[in-house]
Amino acid sequence: MSIEKLREIIEASDNIVFFGGAGVSTESNIPDFRSSKGIYSIYDNLEYSPEEILSYSFFRKHPDYFYDFYRNNLIYKDARPNDAHIALAELEKRGKLKAIITQNIDGLHQKAGSKNVLELHGSIYRNYCMKCYKEFDLDYILNSEGVPLCDKCKGIVRPDVVMYEEALDMHVLRKSIEYIQKAEVLIVGGTSLVVYPAAGLIEYYRGNNLILINKSQTPYDSRATLVFNDSIGKILKQAVF
Ligand code: ZN
Repeated sequence: MSIEKLREIIEASDNIVFFGGAGVSTESNIPDFRSSKGIYSIYDNLEYSPEEILSYSFFRKHPDYFYDFYRNNLIYKDARPNDAHIALAELEKRGKLKAIITQNIDGLHQKAGSKNVLELHGSIYRNYCMKCYKEFDLDYILNSEGVPLCDKCKGIVRPDVVMYEEALDMHVLRKSIEYIQKAEVLIVGGTSLVVYPAAGLIEYYRGNNLILINKSQTPYDSRATLVFNDSIGKILKQAVF
């Protein structure tokens, strides 16, 4: 019944924006940081917490430790796009979806064919030298041992990923806000909407077709036109194809 309603809303609009969290990637078997099966629960006996390891000050102090953890836990090069990524790419191709705003760093939306993807937390596929700003791809990180160094100036190469203690890219954030403000339909998926910046961003939406798709409830459920407490891949596949 409500899938039919979602189909109608999608059919009627050519100004849809999607905002997605970790739940979009977990269906491609990339663990969520905070869910019960996520990295935090696997590593509860670590010397440092993942949050500490993935902070900027830790990275400067122990880049070797950071990179060991990063390569083993944040890079999923072989992950494949799931039904959610594929449905969203299709909506963009049909001229209905204007932008995808994601908190994920795995590049799966692009792998599925999406073009306009705003990556709030950066991407594992982009890396740069902290000294001369030369850019490097993911293979450069994977094929180096220990701390990857720039082949031009020997500076430390870092991922273009927002670490704890770091601010979001203002340009990406501003564009995201613009898209959300202008959106006719806002579909929010795979996020519980309790952590910054997700909770703040959704406040910018002015339309009256807020669609929430998340396995558990969110604080915004009462404001939504439609709420699906279900798999995002399953719902989007049914609504789009
Ligand atoms: Zn360099």
